[in-house]
Amino acid sequence: MRNGEVSYWWQARGIPQRRPSLPGSTDADVCIVGAGYTGLWTAYYLKRADPALRVVVLEASFAGFGASGRNGGWVTAALPGSRERYARHPRGQDGVRELEAQLRDTVDEVARVCAAEGIDAGLVKGGTLSIATTAAQEARLRRQLEQDRAWGDDARIVRYLDGTELATRLQVTGAVGALYSPHCARVQPAALVAGLAEAADRAGVQLYEATPVTSISSGRARTPAGDVRAPYILRCTEGFTADIPGQHRTLLPMNSSMIVTGPLSEEAWKTIGWDGFETLGDEAHAYIYAQRTPDGRIALGGRGVPYRFGSGLDHDGAIAPSTIAQLGRILRRMFPAATGAGIEHAWCGVLGVPRDWCATVTLDRQAGLGWAGGYTGHGVAAANLAGRTLADLVRGIPSPLTTLPWVGHRSPRWEPEPARWAGVHSLYALYRTADRLESARRSPRTSVLARVGDLISGIPH
Ligand SMILES: Cc1cc2nc3c(=O)[nH]c(=O)nc-3n(C[C@H](O)[C@H](O)[C@H](O)COP(=O)(O)OP(=O)(O)OC[C@H]3O[C@@H](n4cnc5c(N)ncnc54)[C@H](O)[C@@H]3O)c2cc1C
Repeated sequence: MRNGEVSYWWQARGIPQRRPSLPGSTDADVCIVGAGYTGLWTAYYLKRADPALRVVVLEASFAGFGASGRNGGWVTAALPGSRERYARHPRGQDGVRELEAQLRDTVDEVARVCAAEGIDAGLVKGGTLSIATTAAQEARLRRQLEQDRAWGDDARIVRYLDGTELATRLQVTGAVGALYSPHCARVQPAALVAGLAEAADRAGVQLYEATPVTSISSGRARTPAGDVRAPYILRCTEGFTADIPGQHRTLLPMNSSMIVTGPLSEEAWKTIGWDGFETLGDEAHAYIYAQRTPDGRIALGGRGVPYRFGSGLDHDGAIAPSTIAQLGRILRRMFPAATGAGIEHAWCGVLGVPRDWCATVTLDRQAGLGWAGGYTGHGVAAANLAGRTLADLVRGIPSPLTTLPWVGHRSPRWEPEPARWAGVHSLYALYRTADRLESARRSPRTSVLARVGDLISGIPH
């Protein structure tokens, strides 16, 4: 079994040859730091809108090295944050509904660009299922549905499936019901980011790899190879942001871990079903997410070790054997028919979590500094919308995107260490215990431990 090596997605696709590093100091109209989905979509849309712009992207490692090449492959319209918090924006609830509508359209926009640019990322828009396996989870699903209806989401956006209906789509041991939304697609994430980087190359973006930015200030991004001077510098480093001087407490690098099975036999797929390629998650507090991959495997992720002291990062995605064992147990419990396929690869990555769990897209025109991120694990589609929005903000074009409630959103900073480490670890200890307690009893009530966890974290529910 392979562990780390960035991710299974990259090993399956093959890590491309490195692009050149920045050859020396240079000038640009826009300098983007970080070549994940956020940076690359921003660069792509800027060049598509105005081919004369000189757009430079600086990437510490290679395009897609971060979460964009390691994630669960859900191109999801899920809101990265809380409706109630975004509704504090002057546009109120209407602004939130507009943001959610834009995110739904974004799933189709990603598919449209994949088709237009010939990006073969195995994209299938099969929707998404959030399943319940305990009475408490089922009660949460129903409460969620009530809230969605109160916000105006009708059955075209989300609907309830009982256990029998769910079983016609796929067999998950113990599943008693699910919420289904059609607004999600499955992709091979590394194929998406690699294809996007190539599309950016073709559009004329200057993408330099192995070029770490050591500091960002108005008009200047510094690197060991020289400076890029530009009137606009955009920070698109999500889970890596804590390493940039001055940003240590902006976004918490939350770790997420994944495993992938070997290819399943035809017989196993007949037992499981899953012919609709829905992405699959659950309603546990320490939740899991999964997809049926384009090459006939199951990829499944969960929290594992949630956070490393001092906002530390992983080493090329390697994860602890105990996390692999834990995810393996969940996989075998959910899909006994997949047991024979074994586990072939495990890895992890970091995503950016703001203190109030709400994402931001912002540009200070005077300082010429902007950034986007903090998608709290819902970044694949959101980064496309953020990229289009940053492109409009830089070009000074008022558009329906530039007034969305996440534009200019300000999250509080994280606590200093050791409070940050202690907070995150106790939070997940509470969540795991709450999940165990809820599994052991039939009560539809959410465990009080999970509520305590929500209070500590400020996670909106
Ligand atoms: C395991 C995992 C599973 C996930 N699953 C999903 C999912 O299924 N659906 C979903 O919507 N979201 C998911 N997410 C979240 C999603 O992947 C991210 O939110 C999204 O990819 C963020 O894109 P980004 O471009 O902002 O950041 P990243 O992809 O992390 O890119 C940041 C880039 O910046 C570079 N960089 C960092 N520092 C510097 C520097 N100083 N100088 C130059 N370059 C720098 C990094 O090398 C990296 O390439 C998941 C995340 C993880 C880790």
